[in-house]
Amino acid sequence: MKERFLPATANIDIWWSQGFSEPDAGSDLASLKTSAVRDGDKYIVNGQKTWTTLGQYGDWMFNLVRTDPNVKKQAGISFLLIDMKTPGVTVRPIQLIDGGHEVNEVFFDNVEVPVENLVGEENKDGPTRNSCSAMSEQASPGSAARRSTWPVPRHTPR
Ligand SMILES: Cc1cc2nc3c(=O)[nH]c(=O)nc-3n(C[C@H](O)[C@H](O)[C@H](O)COP(=O)(O)OP(=O)(O)OC[C@H]3O[C@@H](n4cnc5c(N)ncnc54)[C@H](O)[C@@H]3O)c2cc1C
Repeated sequence: MKERFLPATANIDIWWSQGFSEPDAGSDLASLKTSAVRDGDKYIVNGQKTWTTLGQYGDWMFNLVRTDPNVKKQAGISFLLIDMKTPGVTVRPIQLIDGGHEVNEVFFDNVEVPVENLVGEENKDGPTRNSCSAMSEQASPGSAARRSTWPVPRHTPR
């Protein structure tokens, strides 16, 4: 997985979107409802993310998804990488008060995701990965704050 993704990411050949927030799961991220149900060698993902920064240019999206609904809400969450070109992924713009288009809603409608796209352990690594990701987001030169000042993303909008 590292060989597959890290060089292309470092080279910005892959543009990542961040799929944590949902309409009723912002600060209270553990309330997230987007589900990933195991079906053989794939997950079937259904649900919605929101506030996805520059999601209209995203190639891949790292997501927190609920893989076990029968445990306390802070558990049963996994970290899943989703190719945004997969059938069933819909990116819809959120128009900002200044008319700009920086953030989006992303919908998953029976999206098939290979099990190999799971990062870490099912049901266990979600919150941990999220914390690490949030920290690296603050620390990295490509943090959301800076990214929002980039004049023109080099990817062509789909
Ligand atoms: C420009 C922008 C870009 C974003 N990009 C992304 C992205 O790419 N990917 C992504 O996943 N998310 C993204 N987000 C979402 C952002 O991380 C959420 O806004 C954040 O998680 C807060 O959730 P919320 O907006 O639903 O606010 P809420 O959780 O509803 O909070 C509303 C207010 O209540 C306060 N509050 C909440 N809970 C408590 C509590 N228990 N006690 C006291 N006060 C509380 C909060 O501090 C806040 O002031 C983006 C947001 C913005 C504005």
